[in-house]
Amino acid sequence: MPNSSYGSEFDAPGATPDGDLETQLMDTFDFTNGSLCCDSHSLSDIADQFGTPVYVYSARAFREHYAALRDAFAAIEPRLCFSIKSCHNVHILRTLLECGSSFDAVSIGEVRRALEAGAKASDIVFAGVGKTPAEIEAAVDLGVGTFNAESAAELDVIAAVANKARKNVRAALRINPDVDAKTHPHTTTGKDENKFGIEIGSSPALFQKHKDDPYLSLVGIHLHIGSPVNTVAPYVEMVTKALELVVKLKADGVNIDSINIGGGYGAEYGHQSSATPREYADAIVPLLKDSGLKVSLEPGRSISANAGILITRVVYLKESRTKQFVIVDGSMTDLIRPALYDAYHFIWPVSPAGGVAPSDRSPAYRIEGARPVDIVGPVCESSDYLGRNRFIPAVKQGDLLAVFSAGAYGAVMGSQYNTRCRAAEVLVESDGPRLIRRRETFDDIMACERNL
Ligand SMILES: *Cc1c(COP(=O)(O)O)cnc(C)c1O
Repeated sequence: MPNSSYGSEFDAPGATPDGDLETQLMDTFDFTNGSLCCDSHSLSDIADQFGTPVYVYSARAFREHYAALRDAFAAIEPRLCFSIKSCHNVHILRTLLECGSSFDAVSIGEVRRALEAGAKASDIVFAGVGKTPAEIEAAVDLGVGTFNAESAAELDVIAAVANKARKNVRAALRINPDVDAKTHPHTTTGKDENKFGIEIGSSPALFQKHKDDPYLSLVGIHLHIGSPVNTVAPYVEMVTKALELVVKLKADGVNIDSINIGGGYGAEYGHQSSATPREYADAIVPLLKDSGLKVSLEPGRSISANAGILITRVVYLKESRTKQFVIVDGSMTDLIRPALYDAYHFIWPVSPAGGVAPSDRSPAYRIEGARPVDIVGPVCESSDYLGRNRFIPAVKQGDLLAVFSAGAYGAVMGSQYNTRCRAAEVLVESDGPRLIRRRETFDDIMACERNL
């Protein structure tokens, strides 16, 4: 796909050929009889029934993406800890729990979500750079499986809490391997200058310090270098460095029994290709196969991104001298990724004029089509857009647009800015669509301010 006629957010290496789009990005969202469907349920009907903006998820896509990772890495039988923060709805966590998933939580709130979904506390890993002593106490009390610790000071708190509670606590130390994940500056985490983890060189001293703790077992290494990391090389580099550390620690009398290689596996967003689960596994599995270490992965977006889309309705059309705007009822309060990281989301009408399929966005179509449009929300910020400089079939007031690859870091980052109610969420299962989060109301928003 030539990048030149698109906006700057397209200027990424490795563009995807147009024809692959439908299979790679649309996934369980199909285009049937000129209209978009989720697992053969009409998205137009779903929007009519539940209102807009609305997130629509496919249970089948969650299951298939989970299975793809599990199968690719089968040779080392890793524990897959779904990253709750990427898509935290409790009904979705339950769907993944049924697949056998464990969970990666980054706050005590996420720990509680996983428990509410029915997960065992021992199947939850608790990560995060700033867990408060109160969160650590609560998590120890609940029996959380593993703490991924990120600093010397945090390890001291975990050890003290475990001692006081007289409870055995497992921990892994998050190592910062100083690897460049080549992702957006806001989402890279494994470089020396990032706030995450402990510099690899200074980690042995911490393992030594806690070697004989009575209740804290510091026996794991945790790594997570960024999100998304679309190529395999950074993983190979980081795992290689970590295995060298394990050998060195062993020579010094510290036994490591597990390694958590984090998340960040790419998802197809339709403008830049990403390695597949199989490609990640082919590079990573041989390194770990004979290590004797129990392996965990923390996939988020590779499971959730293309399992969900945002449906929004066109409110107004407007033209300026240089631009054509499609003003929709969805905004940065529903999907902040474009505003936050210039993220690209493929957008297409749910029932396009002339029945033009998304896979037909060929250069020829672009020339015949109208001028590029900016798809923008109603919020009072210039950064409130969902897509810029897009060539889509002509739309009119009241039409629906589908914003693809919105299942990860979409609804979870929703806000009430401009006193907007957060969107409803719908999960399409084999027996049809089901509401899994009702749309917020004005009273929901005011509840925390009234009667004070
Ligand atoms: C966010 C996060 C993940 C998941 O990242 P994805 O890109 O969604 O796979 C995994 N592990 C940790 C520690 C994280 O902070």
